[in-house]
Parts: sequence; C-alpha cells; structure tokens
Amino acid sequence: MRYISTRGGIQAIPFKDAVMMGLATDGGLLLPESYPAITPEEISSWRGLSYPELAFRIISRFVTDIPADDLRALIDRSYAGFDHPEVTPVVHKDGVWILELFHGVTLAFKDVALQFLGNLFEYILAERGERLNIVGATSGDTGSAAIHGVRGKKGINIFILHPHGKTSPVQALQMTTVTDVNVHNIAIRGTFDDCQDMVKALFNDLEFKEKYSLGAVNSINWARVLAQVVYYFYAWLRVTEGGGQQVYFSVPTGNFGDIFAGYVARRMGLPIARLLLATNENNILTRFINDGDYSLAKVVSTVSPSMDIQLASNFERYLFHLYSGDPARVRGAFAELREKGRIAFSAAEMEQVRRDFCSQTVDQAQTIETIGKFHKETGYLLDPHTAVGVRAALELLPADAARVCLATAHPAKFGEAVERAIGAPAPVPPAVAALEGLPTRCEVMEADLERVREFVVSNVG
Ligand SMILES: *Cc1c(COP(=O)(O)O)cnc(C)c1O
Repeated sequence: MRYISTRGGIQAIPFKDAVMMGLATDGGLLLPESYPAITPEEISSWRGLSYPELAFRIISRFVTDIPADDLRALIDRSYAGFDHPEVTPVVHKDGVWILELFHGVTLAFKDVALQFLGNLFEYILAERGERLNIVGATSGDTGSAAIHGVRGKKGINIFILHPHGKTSPVQALQMTTVTDVNVHNIAIRGTFDDCQDMVKALFNDLEFKEKYSLGAVNSINWARVLAQVVYYFYAWLRVTEGGGQQVYFSVPTGNFGDIFAGYVARRMGLPIARLLLATNENNILTRFINDGDYSLAKVVSTVSPSMDIQLASNFERYLFHLYSGDPARVRGAFAELREKGRIAFSAAEMEQVRRDFCSQTVDQAQTIETIGKFHKETGYLLDPHTAVGVRAALELLPADAARVCLATAHPAKFGEAVERAIGAPAPVPPAVAALEGLPTRCEVMEADLERVREFVVSNVG
C-alpha cells in the first residue's frame, strides 16, 4: 500500500514514510492510493474479536512495510492503557447508541489515535536511528493526547501550541502538568486557527522542516485517521449483533478527521447508511452540506471548544475524492478559497455530498439543554461535544435505525458546561483530581510566527 498527496506533487510513498512526512511536502494531505475492499462476509467474520485484534485486521491492510508481529505489538501496547476492557464500549441510552471513545489517559477520543501514533513514531525512529521534533496546534484535546502519546519517548521532542485561556481548565492542566524534558507547551494569545496557521507555515518552510526534522501530530497525519477507522467497524459490529440493519453515525465535528475516518470505513465496504456531521455555531461544514455554501466566517468561542474551527484541515481529503482524485481541482479549489473566501460546488457535486453526509448545527443553548435533558431522562452525563452529536441525531436521523453517537470526551473534561446544564458539578474522576496543584510548565507568547520559530530552534537540543 502506497500513499499519494491530494495536491499531486509527490511520488507515491510507503506507510512509514507517510507517517514521518505528516503534511505532504507539496502542501497537500496524504491518502492511500486505493482503499482495501472488505466483503460483508469478512466483516461478519470479525464479530467477537477483541478491539486490538480487530484493529490489527483493519490497520494491517494499510500497512505493508511493518512485519505483522511488530504491528500487532504496537497496537496491543497502544490500547493496553485504556481503562475499559472493550477500549471503545457502546452503550444504549434513550433510543441512541453512545460509542464511548473517552477511556484513554486524557479522557478524549484522540487517545485512540495518538497512543498508536506515539508508538509508531518511536518504532520508526529507532529503526532509522533518527530524531523527530513534533510541532502541532491544538484547541485542547489533540495537544494533551499527543503529549501523553510521546512523553518520555526517546528521540522525540514535542511542541504544542494552544490558544491561551481558550481550552478548558482540565485540558490546560493535562498539557501543562507534563513536565518531561521532551515536552514544550506554548500558549498563544490568539485563536486555534492562529495556532494552526503558524504550524502550517513552519511545515511549508521546507528548509526549516528538513533542518529540524519536523513531524506532525495533528489530524493531518494519516496514521491518526487510520486508527480511528477501527472504532466505526467495532461499533457497527456491536450494534448489529441482533441482525443487520441500517446504521447511522453522528459525529461532532471540528477538523473533519473523525468523520473522515467514518467515510473511509464506508468506502471500505462497512454498511453505513449516512454520516451525520454535527457542528456547533462554527458551522461552515453544515452550511456546505445543506446549502452548498463553503465560505469562511469568524471563529466563535463555544462550550464545545474542540469544534471551534473554521478551516477543517481534513476536509481536503474529502475534496480530493469528491473531485474524483484530480489534484489539479483540489489546487484550484484552494486557490479559489484564498482569493474569494469561498469554494463553489456544482449541483452534481452537492448531490454526491448529500449521499455521503447529512448535517445539523446545534447551538450552545441547545447543547446545554440536551446535556440536562439527557441526564434527567437517562441518568447518563454527556460532554458538550457529544451532546451536539446526540441532539443532531435525535432530531435528524430515523428513530427506527441504529443511531450511533460518537462520545468524544468524558464530561469531567468540560465540567463548567456540565455544571451549567445539570446545576451540580460533574463528578471528577481521580485522574483529573490528581492534576490539581501539580507543577506546570508553559511558555505564553503572541501569535508571532518568528517568536514560535525561535522558541523551537532554541529547544530542539
Ligand atoms: C477533536 C475533538 C472533536 C472534533 O474532532 P475532529 O476530528 O477535529 O473533527 C470533537 N470532540 C472532541 C471532544 C474533540 O476533542
């Protein structure tokens, strides 16, 4: 299996090179040349497999340059630290299925991918005798999960930019209390998009990228999307145990990485009726799907901050497929976006988009209301991101179908919103309580690319 760029400017490369490249050197995103097709019989034969075993069956189709035993060991190690034996259990509540993706060390779904990516990096670097400096932007959850994925690992430094004061207190603590020498937290006075723009600029400076061996860890890394494909299969197998049926997935969406993994699962043959793309007020993707309007707006801060994003980086991967794999059209679309602040789509393209996705925006008042109502009716506490997806699923998806809502974070991570919704503090798990009062380390700076560059240079060692 080889990997190509959405912008068409690189030779096809094997998996390990794709992992190390992160963002493609032509500015595009890496994708497999084709998707392995899984037959319905084969999917059925996977019933009853443990999560790591299922992960191996799926991931190995995309990874042909790591020996099977090594890959199996990497996968086993990545999921051994989860606090639930099923890794991503599914529970049935009030007519919807909740796919709990928050049983990893930072209590958010990003651990599923970033524990795997951290182990992959360590494996490839050791094999090649190389070093890596990870630079990434986060609205909160990616950073903490990435930091925990690589803390203390040999040959790796990590620099994580987050918008100062715009993450939840628990997220900030999960990052800044990691004081391992290879971990560097940078708090930027600006938005998540400012952080992401600066990270992109560093990666687009090829000389700099080369000289300092920069690697990516945001959802632009293909290995992350790949790891997330697994839980769509896992959940599908669980909710269809009583017999085959239509399965919908509702995905609270920010950078389009999680939902793109669902799209990949569907292309591989997993019978997903449709993917519901749920957004908060930062709803460029909902406007796109429902009205064909892909035009940039200002970022608004909400109670679901991991979705406070306008330019969803992984959307480019979907565009590549929508344009039938024509990189010239992808380049054209981004040129149009730069010049006009929007991309226009044909009627035929929009028909295709609506076969793949449906979408709904859930505003902050509705989010809070949903957390409160769901808790009252079922006793189950949703985090605000998950609540966006649950509300959208209840309103938009047929009640007689299996509706799987991705629970992307533990409610304790966003305690303030939860308290507003239920009028009492969210229960604090011991792992979170233990962070209070620990020593922290973090560098605060303006959204100034040169300052960030200097800081990286002076800390790579
Ligand atoms: C990152 C994140 C999202 C959005 O996921 P994307 O892959 O960026 O679309 C949603 N909820 C939570 C809790 C997150 O951390």
